[in-house]
Amino acid sequence: MRIDFNRPPFVGKELDYIREAAQVNRMLCGDGPFTKLCSQWMKDHFVTRQVLLTTSCTHALEMAAYLADIQPGDEVIMPSYTFVSTADAFVLRGARIVFVDIRPDTMNIDERKIEAAITEKTKAIVPVHYAGVACAMDEIMELADRYHLKVIEDAAQGVNAWYKGRALGTIGDFGCYSFHETKNYSMGEGGAILFQDDSYLEAAEILREKGTNRSKFFRGQVDKYTWVDYGSSYLPSDMNAAYLWAQLEEAEKINQKRLEIWNFYHRKLAALARQGAVEQPYVPDYAVHNAHMYYLKVKDLDTRTRLLAWLKERGILSVFHYVPLHSSAAGLRFGRFHGEDVYTTRESERIFRLPMYYSLTLDEAAAVVKALYEFDQY
Ligand SMILES: *Cc1c(COP(=O)(O)O)cnc(C)c1O
Repeated sequence: MRIDFNRPPFVGKELDYIREAAQVNRMLCGDGPFTKLCSQWMKDHFVTRQVLLTTSCTHALEMAAYLADIQPGDEVIMPSYTFVSTADAFVLRGARIVFVDIRPDTMNIDERKIEAAITEKTKAIVPVHYAGVACAMDEIMELADRYHLKVIEDAAQGVNAWYKGRALGTIGDFGCYSFHETKNYSMGEGGAILFQDDSYLEAAEILREKGTNRSKFFRGQVDKYTWVDYGSSYLPSDMNAAYLWAQLEEAEKINQKRLEIWNFYHRKLAALARQGAVEQPYVPDYAVHNAHMYYLKVKDLDTRTRLLAWLKERGILSVFHYVPLHSSAAGLRFGRFHGEDVYTTRESERIFRLPMYYSLTLDEAAAVVKALYEFDQY
């Protein structure tokens, strides 16, 4: 038996659509018919004014940092328990990162500890919706309003997840999605930037298209396109969008399948949690999650190391997650931790993630559960 930690989602029509992009549409570069289908679908389903597909969530974050006018020396507040890109995108613009502790229940930034970290230099807050479970957005938006800060949601894991009826990524000034192969909906490598203020659109299009007004040209608004501002290349191929389109068409099927696995783990492992061997994830009432991840926590790092090795011997690939950024070499150079690290390091050492993907069967999930019950050294 071998149960992978992740397998990229494949629902059926992906290759047909890629062939269509090449042979029918004859358009492999960006902003073709499949890119438009994906964008329109997200506009309708997530109720966002603007959405632009990008080459990754990392690049969506880079675009957001630029559009939010982050300047050298500005401070940006975020959790330390996150992926490197959350910080990198702002470091690239010369910002200093100010890390704030997480809440142990959701593993999200502790909204009650943000205000104390705000200084004259603070420019933005970057909430990360860990595991597709929403941060306390009302509190974060209220702080941002009061201190005139931008909010950039790292919703890489939060596609098709909700906060009080609003899609994650549509609440802050900018939202960033990932369609990496490890995420719920995939195009191999890819992402999207969302925003609600139309006045960002022109600058966003120019930034994404090498600093040119090529988007305006294609809409017939200008008769030739030229270099108009700073830019890069953040536009994905329509082939990748074709793959994503097959997934978005089946988004509800993918979501239901993931939730079924998540709920299965949650139900079957409840007794193990009652015995005190593991802790299960918590989803606040305000959040509708997307089963991006199923994690557990054990007593300490040593227990986790032994358990993961034990599972691996049985062919089950379970993995831990982020090493807190503030303790990494780059984190020490580009940022600082504000306040006390009560939970970030401690919780990050206890957490591990179970196999979770569209094609995982309930039999496989049952084998994972069985192995967790058989381990007797918690
Ligand atoms: C996956 C992920 C990213 C990066 O996404 P890419 O599309 O691979 O660039 C950023 N932030 C978080 C929280 C992620 O989980």
